Amino acid sequence: MLIGPNGSGEFNQQSAIDNQQFTDQLIAAVLNSLTVDVEEWFHICGVPLLQSETWSRLPSRVEQTTRMLLDELDAAGITGTFFIVGWIAERYPKLVGLILAAGHDVGSHSFWHRRVYDLDRATFADDLRASVTALGAAGTPAITAFRAPEWSINHRSEWALEVLVQQGFTADASMAPLRIVGDVSYPRGPYVRSTPVGSIIEVPPLVADRFGHAMPMGWGWGLRMSPPAQVLKEIERANKIGRPAVLTIHPWELDPDPPRVPLPLGLRFAHYFRLDGFPGRLRTILRGASFGPLQAAASRAGSD
Ligand SMILES: [Zn+2]
Repeated sequence: MLIGPNGSGEFNQQSAIDNQQFTDQLIAAVLNSLTVDVEEWFHICGVPLLQSETWSRLPSRVEQTTRMLLDELDAAGITGTFFIVGWIAERYPKLVGLILAAGHDVGSHSFWHRRVYDLDRATFADDLRASVTALGAAGTPAITAFRAPEWSINHRSEWALEVLVQQGFTADASMAPLRIVGDVSYPRGPYVRSTPVGSIIEVPPLVADRFGHAMPMGWGWGLRMSPPAQVLKEIERANKIGRPAVLTIHPWELDPDPPRVPLPLGLRFAHYFRLDGFPGRLRTILRGASFGPLQAAASRAGSD
């Protein structure tokens, strides 16, 4: 329950108005986060057809689709955080420059876009270092935020948080409070994770409860299938308790002519379900709430 600004539990018309104003001010004070995972349409983990040896032979769409997304965010007056795959930063440094020039923050989305829990500690450390090197060579300032491919930091790979701390990262956005890819027991708002070598702020994505289950509301099929009004209602619900909502978009979700490959059912759903009309729905969502970089949400850590 929200306590009104006058601290009174008595109900009268004036306190109802005060409470409403208090709630409105609280919602206005919370800046949500708009994040982008900059990857190719073929950066899908665990698909033999799409192993890294094939990447340079596949048609690239990332420059065109990221530019579309940059235009959308520019039109909406939003800056966010772009988690860029190192392999892309190395091949398309000018694209990294465009993202920076538009005022966005940049983080790492790994170098080879592999699930963290499939790697050992040394391999993850090397991959992370390679991504930071590639981003730095493309002109980024120090990289301090990370998002793992497919939310792959969970109970199988919590050691990765130590590696992130050791390499100077201060924020991670890889642990989803969902059963399928993470754990429903994870907090739904930004919080501090302690590791033996120091702490890091964990910034989870927006989930919502539907039919007794948590579902991805801020990204992927959940974001694409939900009417904008419903997404905005869930954002407001989070903001009312002082919690920022974190959305995640992929440039390939805006592709007007996306290449496709046969995928197992779960991945097909995650990648291809309800792409039709998504740019228009996204436009409505972006104009219906306030968004900023991940750092804005991270700064509210511990408010849970
Ligand atoms: Zn990814």
